[in-house]
Amino acid sequence: MQEVKQRKIPLRKCVACQEMMPKKQLIRVVRTPEDAVLIDLTGKKSGRGAYLCGKLSCFKLAHKNKALDRALKAPVHSDIYEQLAQDFTQVEEEFLAQKDREPDEQ
Ligand SMILES: [Zn+2]
Repeated sequence: MQEVKQRKIPLRKCVACQEMMPKKQLIRVVRTPEDAVLIDLTGKKSGRGAYLCGKLSCFKLAHKNKALDRALKAPVHSDIYEQLAQDFTQVEEEFLAQKDREPDEQ
């Protein structure tokens, strides 16, 4: 019998800074089966996913070193990055607001 029951927090790695973080603190970028690259706030879209900290700086880093391309195993065009950058700025705000609300139930 285990005395201390360890709660497993699913960790994922940010593709830009390589830091392991709880899944909830990361933003999922997904490449859909139709080859579209999108930000997936629900975490439920199907396709190959990559995770980034909810920071614009990490997103920019991922652009610079092509970390997203590698994680998604697809070339991510710069217009997609531009679109993502816009989305990211919005998402970042939503994301931070969400964190304040402590979305612990699920
Ligand atoms: Zn990061």
